[in-house]
Amino acid sequence: MTPATPPAASAAAPSAPSGQPAFSHAAAPGSASEPLLFIVSAPSGSGKSTLVREILRLIPDLEFSISYTTRPPRGSEVNGREYFFISREEFEKRIQSDAFLEYAEVFGYWYGTAWSFLEDARRRGRDLLLDIDVQGAAKVLARCPVATSIFIAPPNRETLEWRLRHRGQDPEAVMERRLRDASREIAAYNKYQYLVINDRLEDSVERLAAIIATEREARMGASADESGRQRRELARSCRQKESAQLLAPVLRSFGVEMEVDGQGS
Ligand code: 5GP
Repeated sequence: MTPATPPAASAAAPSAPSGQPAFSHAAAPGSASEPLLFIVSAPSGSGKSTLVREILRLIPDLEFSISYTTRPPRGSEVNGREYFFISREEFEKRIQSDAFLEYAEVFGYWYGTAWSFLEDARRRGRDLLLDIDVQGAAKVLARCPVATSIFIAPPNRETLEWRLRHRGQDPEAVMERRLRDASREIAAYNKYQYLVINDRLEDSVERLAAIIATEREARMGASADESGRQRRELARSCRQKESAQLLAPVLRSFGVEMEVDGQGS
């Protein structure tokens, strides 16, 4: 299938649709009435989808932001569950009507996060988990700086390649491209607040859950019990400054140098 190519996405964050209030999370950090945004990015094959599925099953009042995409459905994917699968023409129309908080081209297809999802989450008092690529994450963070950003890394290149080959969803050429892009994506780790190296799924679920609980506590107030303290400690250990050194061997396996001063927030 020929990759869809809507008009070039602006590098700047898009504005809110006319007549619709700009997402006010940045203006009211910590406000209990605003949903928290959790941005999760990872190179393809990092096991992010499984991790995200598990987190959504475990954590109450957390919704998945279902993106629009021009990519055709894969395997058992269902329209309106994993994505809204739309044509290039429909995607273009939505760009023109400012329907997207952000959109980006990934692997030759277009993906976009709809404003309407944020508004719906706000109405229902739910927090939102955005599974978006590094370009989309940068755009959302520019618009909503208080969003929580989490980078999921594979334990090494070999494991990523193994996972990509064994899921058998992509033709060889697409897989080669995913592997090449993984090196570029992984170099963006320092733009994220938290790092989770996805080696054992159970550990990663625990870490991600601890990060989400800790960020929620920052809004609602910290729990004083021992399990709350342990969760906060686990979340702290995932902060980029604390965990970047653990990523050094992962980066090396992708041929990426760790920036000495690039430790972000
Ligand atoms: P896949 O086609 O494998 O489901 O996703 C490919 C990539 O697109 C993943 O890195 C995923 O996080 C990203 N992605 C999914 N939805 C969006 C979106 O709405 N915006 C952006 N920028 N990236 C997205």
